Amino acid sequence: MQTVLNIVIDAESAVHGLEQLLGISSMAPVRSPFGPDRAFCQTFDGDPIALRDAVLAGLAGKIRIVVRGKDGLPVAMSSAQRLFTGAIRDAVLMTATHCTSDGCIVPATKCQTDHLVPASQGGETCVCNGGLACGHHNRWRYLAKVKVRRLADGIIATFRPDGSRIAPPM
Ligand SMILES: [Zn+2]
Repeated sequence: MQTVLNIVIDAESAVHGLEQLLGISSMAPVRSPFGPDRAFCQTFDGDPIALRDAVLAGLAGKIRIVVRGKDGLPVAMSSAQRLFTGAIRDAVLMTATHCTSDGCIVPATKCQTDHLVPASQGGETCVCNGGLACGHHNRWRYLAKVKVRRLADGIIATFRPDGSRIAPPM
């Protein structure tokens, strides 16, 4: 059985850790580890972890990252697993009633849950990166090398490799 390491990190520190990992010079001020607006990146037991290491492990899918907002409540949580199972799968199933490929009417219960941004490209196994597609369209998306993204209005859109959107049927 796999042991999951949970890392709790505040949202600003998570961005800072990603910048460190990418080698982007961040002008963000160093924040105090004390006080109500403190920066933190730690295990559940409070053991500190380097920001860069936490983000790197999160991208590799070896840990679960819990991002907390300024009020201390979790605002996002990744999964240490690569597959959508259990409650995360159920939550993704609730995001649509049918396959999200334009024009497809296969019902959600007969669809597969998969990453919108593939895990191989750094996509997280989280509800925000989960999408439904029937088996046919899930395979087609991979073979056709299309990109599938959730737009700001919640609509799932499919883009050809050249970046043009595949329009829904009229
Ligand atoms: Zn479909």
